[in-house]
Formats: sequence, structure tokens, C-alpha cells
Amino acid sequence: MNGKHNSILLFILMAAVLSFPVCISASVPSELTSGPFGKLDSKEEVKFFTLKNKNGIEVKLIPYGAAIVSLKVPDKNGKSADIVLGYDDLQGFVNDTSYFGCIVGRCTNRIANACFKLDGKEYKLTANDGKNHLHGGLKGFNKMLWQASELRTKNYSCVVFKYLSPDGQEGYPGNLRVTVTYTLTDNDKLKIGYEATTDRETIVNLTSHSYFNLAGQDSGDVLNQVMMINADNYTPMENHIPTGEIRKVAGTGLDFRKPVAIGRGIKKVGGYDHNFVLNKSALGELSLAARVADPVSGRVMEVFTTEPAVQLYTCNFNGSVKGKGGRAYKGHSSFCLETQHFPDSPNKPYFPSTVLKPGEVYRQLTVYKFSVQ
Ligand code: BGC
Repeated sequence: MNGKHNSILLFILMAAVLSFPVCISASVPSELTSGPFGKLDSKEEVKFFTLKNKNGIEVKLIPYGAAIVSLKVPDKNGKSADIVLGYDDLQGFVNDTSYFGCIVGRCTNRIANACFKLDGKEYKLTANDGKNHLHGGLKGFNKMLWQASELRTKNYSCVVFKYLSPDGQEGYPGNLRVTVTYTLTDNDKLKIGYEATTDRETIVNLTSHSYFNLAGQDSGDVLNQVMMINADNYTPMENHIPTGEIRKVAGTGLDFRKPVAIGRGIKKVGGYDHNFVLNKSALGELSLAARVADPVSGRVMEVFTTEPAVQLYTCNFNGSVKGKGGRAYKGHSSFCLETQHFPDSPNKPYFPSTVLKPGEVYRQLTVYKFSVQ
């Protein structure tokens, strides 16, 4: 090849390189639709919002509890299934005591003896789990009607939920303004972005409480689904409250460092309800928390988060909960991977802090990435 040919080739190559990133980086916004979902006893109307991407992933959201109602994901043969537990109608979510799909707040998980100290002052919270405080109290963020709006940009469609938690609610200090943004991207990521601000020093620890079954919400147990959790350590508990230690998972039923079937160690621990300390090189870094694969459908879900921990809960109930289509959800019919700060953080000063001060912004990002194998 002569020099002239070489320069033509180089020109073509450079043109390709320069134009390619423009083509691949342009994301196509998901389809965003809405409609009526139901009416509360207070006569307030509750809408649903659906985001659907070009690959057929579809998530349905409601402002009651800022919850995920359904999440349809294609399997390795392109067949879609709803992979989250839940209810068909609003009444189901109103009566729910399992926190299906909702945003949990002001503080997820347990706070020992339903009290904590901040700046020398003691705050008493509602005790709704024996003597402890669980998932924000008797009427947490899951039982609130959030304000909803649609956001459309050139590349993304989002559903935005906002809620103002008043000073003193369930015992928490400060007016807390919370925004949760759901985005579904065309590369199969469901992103949940959280933000909160306060006018008085307070504590905040939000999570999303979806119960996943990658084979489909009505397909039985998840014991053969294969899970990896990117955690060398966990926080041992006594009566669901961390003792304060950080212990290695090695040699316990909590060792998910290499992918293993969820059912492998479940008997040893009597059902998972444990807080894993995520391996991170820096606090707040967005990194891989977990990867779960269903060997039958081929569906894979990876969870990335900026949070320091994840609670694995394997739906340890007994079949008394009736969900979509009237189906009684049995024990281990799903798993929750609740990205969060450690339980009882407000009483454990050496755990990553859940304190939020006026002028600061609480931020959390959790991303669920779907694929097939
Ligand atoms: C907690 C469990 C609790 C479940 C339902 C999970 O996040 O870790 O202990 O039973 O939620 O409230």
C-alpha cells in the first residue's frame, strides 16, 4: 500500500473513531406513561407511572410509598416475567406489612430501644418492633402519598417522587425533604437516586424494599438462584440489633464472596436477615454490591450502590401473605437486597454516620443492571 492509500485509510479510521462515541453514548429515553391506579380512603387519587425501555424492560411505579409495583424483565429467550412481589391494586399496598417494593424511611432497619442521642439530646422514636424502631415506625414513608412528577430529558425519562416528612414525625427531629428519582436507561439499568435535606440536625437512612425473584414473582422459591455479595464482613446481631462488631464472613453461612446458591447456607443461618459490610475503596463510591443469576431463566441482576452496606432478607415468612393474583407467597420465595447504612447506626458512633445537618444533602444512588446469561 502506498502513502496516499495510507492517509485515506487513516482519514476513514479517524472519522469512524470521532463519530462512533456520539452514536454509542446517545441514550434513548424510555417510554413514560401514566394512568389511574386507585383511590385512598381520603379520596386522594393515586396514579401509576410506567417506564419501558427499547429492550422490553418495564417498571411500574406508584407515589403511594414511592413504590415499585411490578418490574418486567425478559429472560434468555425474550420471555418477560414480573420479578418483584407485590399486589395487583392499591388496597394491597395500603394493607401491606411486608414493605413490598416501597421506599423505607426516615430510617430503614432497626434502631435499638427506639431511641438515639443527637447533639446531647435524646430522641424517642415509635417502638413498632417489640421495643425497637423498625423501618421508620408505625407510619413510615411506605405509607405516605408522595408528590409525583414526570421528568423528560433528551436521553432519559424519569419518575420523581417528593415527600416532606414533618418535624417530630414518628419522633424524628427536623423537617426532612426527600426526593426519589427512578430512571430506566436503554442499557437496562434501573436507577434509584435519593436526596434529602433537613432544617434541623437529624438522622436518615433510606432504602428500596423490593422482593426479587428472578424466575418470576409467582415461580416458587429462590433457593437455586445464585448470589454473590461483594462483602468480606458483616455486622453480627443479637435480636436483630448489631452487637457493634464487624466480623469476617469466611467460614460462615454468610460467605457469598464467590457465587453460591442462596439455598446452600440458608439452613445454617435459619433464613437470611443479615447486614453485609460492602467492600469499598472509599465511602460513597458507586460499586458492585451483589450479583444474582437465575440458572433457569438466565436472568441476571447486578446491584451497584453508593451505600456502605446491604441487608439480605430472604422473605422469611410463612405463606400468610397474599400478593398478585391472590398467590400466597411462601418463605424464601424472594430475596431483598436493601442497600443502606448499617442498622442501629445512630447508636453506634463508629459505624458510618447517618446524621444529616442543615445545609448538607443526603445522597444515595443504587443501580439495578439486568442482563441474561
Ligand atoms: C428486615 C426484616 C423484616 C423485614 C420486613 C427486612 O428489611 O431486615 O427483619 O422482617 O424487612 O419488615
